[in-house]
Amino acid sequence: MQKKDGVGLAGPQVGQTIRVIIINTKDGPLAMVNPKITKKSWGKELGEEGCLSIPDFYGTLKRHKKINVIYTDKHNKKIKLAAAGLLARVIQHEVDHLNGVLFIDYIQKKELKDLPKE
Ligand SMILES: [Zn+2]
Repeated sequence: MQKKDGVGLAGPQVGQTIRVIIINTKDGPLAMVNPKITKKSWGKELGEEGCLSIPDFYGTLKRHKKINVIYTDKHNKKIKLAAAGLLARVIQHEVDHLNGVLFIDYIQKKELKDLPKE
């Protein structure tokens, strides 16, 4: 993740079935075990996203502006976090991975033709 300059990573992306996501923050990597979004703002905003699982493709999609999340940290402590902006977006993206959802699932088909073929 660091090498590819990603902002987040979820267990399923590295062949792990554990419910863990790692988020790159300015204070260093933040690991969240069993993250659960407990609250989502009504307000949504558009933003551009990419994904390490889908290299070289970026799309614009709406995410909740603010979320509350509960997770277990690396010290096995339960943490409640209120996130907004980019952090909220990254958490929503990564929690989706845990549920088998990719951001392109939200994007309209017309944009998908730009997706690089394997
Ligand atoms: Zn992703």
